[in-house]
Amino acid sequence: MANATFSQVQTSIFEIMSTLAREKGAENLGQGFPEGLEPPELIEAAIKALRDGPHQYPPMMGLPALRQAVADNACRFFGLDAEAENVMITSGATEALSDCFLALLNPGDEVIVFEPVYDSYAPIIRRGGAVPVAVKLTPPDWRLPFEQVSKAITPRTRALVVNTPMNPIGKVFDDSELRFLADLMLKHDLLAICDEVYEHLVFEGEHKSLFSFPDVRDRVARIGSAGKSFSVTGWKVGYVMADAKLLGPIARAHQFVTFTTAPALQAAVAAGLNMSQTYFDGLKQALRTRRDFLTEGLNQLGFTVRPAQATYFAVADVTAFDENGDDLAFCRRMVEEAGVAAIPLSAFYENRDLSGHIRFCFAKQQDTLARALQKLSRWRNAQ
Ligand code: PMP
Ligand code: GLN
Repeated sequence: MANATFSQVQTSIFEIMSTLAREKGAENLGQGFPEGLEPPELIEAAIKALRDGPHQYPPMMGLPALRQAVADNACRFFGLDAEAENVMITSGATEALSDCFLALLNPGDEVIVFEPVYDSYAPIIRRGGAVPVAVKLTPPDWRLPFEQVSKAITPRTRALVVNTPMNPIGKVFDDSELRFLADLMLKHDLLAICDEVYEHLVFEGEHKSLFSFPDVRDRVARIGSAGKSFSVTGWKVGYVMADAKLLGPIARAHQFVTFTTAPALQAAVAAGLNMSQTYFDGLKQALRTRRDFLTEGLNQLGFTVRPAQATYFAVADVTAFDENGDDLAFCRRMVEEAGVAAIPLSAFYENRDLSGHIRFCFAKQQDTLARALQKLSRWRNAQ
């Protein structure tokens, strides 16, 4: 269905579950946002920038200091070959994604997306007249199904959307998967829109970007978000990194979508990206500890959870508890009866054709996680 209007699009599952959690006074392990991890240096830098100004429109491409900091950070941590001129600042990764879809796709183009797929991609792809084509990853391994990916490509295929590390399953695409995708891009003349907002939140293995493959670098638009790297999801400061030829049209889209982003927050994020390795290691360690605490706790309660390689999210197999095979109904029951919100994984599949899996966000304070586990334990015991 190309050109689908937004009257047919439903309220996002994250908003639905957060609203329910607020109404029920539940522990919100649904929507992905962290608790208590904001670096004080970043907040201080924002306060200073707000005091000092300026407060007027920053340059359309972003503050020069932030564009440089994004390039330097990508070089320092991921060995990427990028200059400030390859970077454009956006109002969150959501805007960056929209800019890329609006700029790079033409009506009728097909775009390969991998399910479970983040919810903002398909509606904007469709609104621009292009067609998302889903290829499914399946539990428990969530490996990229090479054969199905090859089969999904047609003469109309224009781009791939690659989300690594991947929400909601915490998967990190490995070298062989990325090389396979890069070869497809060369063979079929494709672009890749790479959503890498969890680039700094990898606990097992290493984050690798298609942008680091020299033979496809000029075909890649790579997206990041300060929301994730600095635990400030409400700030909505994101960026796109791409070769100049690709970044040009993306910037044309950006100038009519938001044009720019709050200058004080941009200045603070520049300071954040320039922080030492100690900060980034500390963030990972704090999240790893929270991941282990929630994963072990859920497993003790009879949920089946594997430790996530990356992101904020633990996926629990609840097939054994969910006799009706309806994970959305299961999550509604859990928030109402247990007082704990999670996200049904079927929300990340166009045809809702995966059941028995739900996503918990572990990026919370230890006492929030402990309260959630206690509530779930009482609920399970009462069944
Ligand atoms: N992509 C993915 C995979 C996400 O999980 C999110 C939400 N955090 C976004 C994009 C949106 O990021 P932002 O809040 O910076 O718009
Ligand atoms: N990215 C967040 C998540 O996956 C949600 C952001 C939103 O609510 N749109 O939970």
